[in-house]
Amino acid sequence: MPELAEVEFFRKQWNPGLRERILAVQLNSSKRIFRGTDAKLIEKILAGAIFAESFAHGKQMLFRFGADGWLGLHLGMTGKLRTENAAYTPLKHDHVVLRQKTYALVFSDPRLFGRVLFHHGLEKPVWWTKLPASISSPSFTFDRFKTFLQQHGRAPIKAVLLLQNGFPGIGNWMADEILWQAKIHPRTAAGRIDEDKLKSAFQKTRFVAQRAIEIIGHDFSDPPKSWLFQHRWKKRGACPRCAATLEHATIGGRTTCWCPECQGADAIQSKRTRQ
Ligand SMILES: [Zn+2]
Repeated sequence: MPELAEVEFFRKQWNPGLRERILAVQLNSSKRIFRGTDAKLIEKILAGAIFAESFAHGKQMLFRFGADGWLGLHLGMTGKLRTENAAYTPLKHDHVVLRQKTYALVFSDPRLFGRVLFHHGLEKPVWWTKLPASISSPSFTFDRFKTFLQQHGRAPIKAVLLLQNGFPGIGNWMADEILWQAKIHPRTAAGRIDEDKLKSAFQKTRFVAQRAIEIIGHDFSDPPKSWLFQHRWKKRGACPRCAATLEHATIGGRTTCWCPECQGADAIQSKRTRQ
């Protein structure tokens, strides 16, 4: 499942076609990724319009064509964007192909868990503007972070970090990375984290999101070896900070990795507070 940094990477794949006119629109509009969306309107508005700009927000992307054509894309599990040359012949899983003089802008999705949305109007669509504050925005404040964790205070922090209405674009590996960097056990109840650890978790949330966008969003490189990311998938992988063997378990419905040494104290603390 793509997280915010991968989404940023895919958003930029259409950049070569910026400021170029769309000459023709080819859509696989019978596919379920178009459910509830007027494909005929997309064809009508986009044909002849200039590809003007694009945005990423968590796991969502928005592309503006002309003054009033807004194409929303959600990658789902297997969605990808890429740019092909103008004469490109679409393959089976290419569900959106926007043809320009020099390029073809392609959205493919083999498993069809993605989504295509469209809005015709001068303002950004409501389904975009009502998205929760993105992690890199000034409105994602410590108070907001703390309040959200308290609202889900009994759930393990790992599960809370995966809630998209609080942390748009944070997925499994990023949540584990934040908790490892902040030295918080993933099972710690979200409402039982002391103020210092909360501040650290907030800073690491911003930091991991920002660095991931810079590194992965740039060219799909992996994060540095000093991060948990590089070690979490290995059998008997070692913590890059203390060399202890990493542990794995299902928490919040997802395979979770943590260091029993670096992230041990909070688990004991939360067990004590439950007694
Ligand atoms: Zn460790």
